[in-house]
Amino acid sequence: MSVTIKRLAIIGVGLIGGSLARALREAGAVKSVVGIGRSRNNLEEALSLGICDEITQDMAEGVRGADVVFISVPVCAIPGVVAEIASALAPGCIVTDGGSVKTGIVGECEALMPSGCFFVGGHPIAGTEHTGAAASFATLYQGRRCILTPTERTEAAVLEMVAHMWRLAGADVCFMEPGHHDRIFAEISHLPHMAAYALVHAVGTADVEGENVLSYTAGGFRDFTRIASSDPAMWRDIALMNRNALLQSIDGFSASMAELRRRIEAGDGAGLSTFFTIAKQFRDGIV
Ligand code: NAP
Repeated sequence: MSVTIKRLAIIGVGLIGGSLARALREAGAVKSVVGIGRSRNNLEEALSLGICDEITQDMAEGVRGADVVFISVPVCAIPGVVAEIASALAPGCIVTDGGSVKTGIVGECEALMPSGCFFVGGHPIAGTEHTGAAASFATLYQGRRCILTPTERTEAAVLEMVAHMWRLAGADVCFMEPGHHDRIFAEISHLPHMAAYALVHAVGTADVEGENVLSYTAGGFRDFTRIASSDPAMWRDIALMNRNALLQSIDGFSASMAELRRRIEAGDGAGLSTFFTIAKQFRDGIV
């Protein structure tokens, strides 16, 4: 496989950025990788794990000469990162990201691009609840979707280059308008994380005659709440950045809970069976 990226700069060498670097290295698709981040410890770990060839805490220095820059820091930090690196980008550089929210990022980052450089929004639909370079692995994106969110400003050749990069990393690429992306992911990703956090919060603070109720948890509770172990800073940013879509999703969920509560309070066994049967059919229909 021929080298397609000469110098790849990864800003935020955590699970998402580290896994992309590893996958592209394994595919023989990148010549050199520079890892850029805040903490020296994580960068040194990335270097010792062979994820990067070079590391730096200086963002502008790190992106110099890169043909592709991938940003994988918490979503609220992404526009600030782009503002910091914009003047150091080489002509023709493609900047792309892996943030879980797209509308705000794409709008701000496109506007920050110097002439002759390009921004394409992206979101790989893959992840775990673990963070940092050590949590990354080369097969994270194998057979997983990666959504790219072009706008009317996106050049076809630039979009194809980013799509090609993700395909080399093993992903199935699809395209979506940023706002549409944010509504869908508010429902199927952001709302479930909020529900998991809220559930564990409620149960963890429940007062049942002084008992630590969490000590009685079994498989069901653990399965359902695994994602409440996700990084709080990352999810704070996602909740704030996808505020409008997420509020709509939370309202829908609250209405569903209120309906469930009403049927329980009324002793409406038939109503509960119908409610659970409909939900089971939806769940069983997920392939
Ligand atoms: P991660 O493992 O914690 O990696 C984030 C990296 O960003 C770390 O290397 C961290 O390094 C750096 N960082 C944190 N805050 C920063 C800031 N304010 N400015 C600059 N660098 C900062 O997290 P991740 O799971 O890879 O997530 C990264 C991005 O991918 C997020 O935008 C997230 O929405 C998106 N995403 C995550 C998943 C998932 O399931 N995890 C899935 C799809 C997309 P230092 O602390 O050393 O700076």
